Amino acid sequence: MNRLPGEKRAYFLKAGEGARYRVAGQLATYLARAGDTGGLLEVVVLAGGKGAGFPLHSHRRTREAMVVLEGSVELWLGARKYRMSAGDFANVPPGTAHGYAMQSHRTRILSWTVDGDAGGIYAEAGEPTEGYSYLPGPPAPLEPRQSSLDIAFGADAAIAPGGPAPYVLESGEGERLITGDSLFTFLADQSHTGGSFIALTTQGPKSERIPKHFHEKHTETFLCLQGAMTMWIGDEEVALAPGDFVHAPPGAIHAYRTDAPYTNFMGILAPGLFEPFFRTLCDPYDDYIYPPQPLPVRFDRVIARLPELDLKLVERPGPPR
Ligand code: FE
Repeated sequence: MNRLPGEKRAYFLKAGEGARYRVAGQLATYLARAGDTGGLLEVVVLAGGKGAGFPLHSHRRTREAMVVLEGSVELWLGARKYRMSAGDFANVPPGTAHGYAMQSHRTRILSWTVDGDAGGIYAEAGEPTEGYSYLPGPPAPLEPRQSSLDIAFGADAAIAPGGPAPYVLESGEGERLITGDSLFTFLADQSHTGGSFIALTTQGPKSERIPKHFHEKHTETFLCLQGAMTMWIGDEEVALAPGDFVHAPPGAIHAYRTDAPYTNFMGILAPGLFEPFFRTLCDPYDDYIYPPQPLPVRFDRVIARLPELDLKLVERPGPPR
């Protein structure tokens, strides 16, 4: 593994690996392109220095979302400007003018797109590179340009949004659900994305492996943010450190286990139809850290609703802890 497959397949990327382009003074590293996910999802990490950015633009169909991974970013979103730092999330529905300027000497942003081809802009506007970093020196701005992709530059390109509103969440905020000692935080659910994706973080201490399973309809991605985890994907067992990424397309058998005293990972699932699984398994939770003693794991509720959920178990879940 460690390379993008160019076809819909399960794969694993070590931190920094992926298809890389130099664009607008930044390094854009694709973790997933449309061709790798059957057109369901594109994921890119944008790394740059202070002052690097992307000019105001909007998308007609493409839904975009981003999480700041490192440093801080000034984000223009609709009529507002935000200062975002690591862990903060922005949801950018179609028709929302947006752009950013990196504010730290090393800044990294995770950005993903669904429903349109705007995620191709970094490959279209950039130069492919085998390098692993952006270049020293003042970052050259991206000149607003004509593109055949779903991207229109300029603040006046904004189309009045009729759907979900854009928003920014501070790190840790978002609807929280608990099962055992796994804390799920929804950055976006289907109501925020027209059903096209859901995005959530999973935090917890060391855990047992979850049951091996696969999905028939949605593609699932895992990005380790903190701590350590082991993933089983197809026939492979891989150890994930922060920055490592796994793609599990429909049909790919997978499972994970968290291995560090504190682990936090991102999941982007497209389309978003797996949301009911979390609502079935978990209970609402008000706090921002998992409890010292695990709460009940109500996998019995999942089993009772299994035919409605996009979940095929290939082994029996263990007894509740
Ligand atoms: Fe899964």
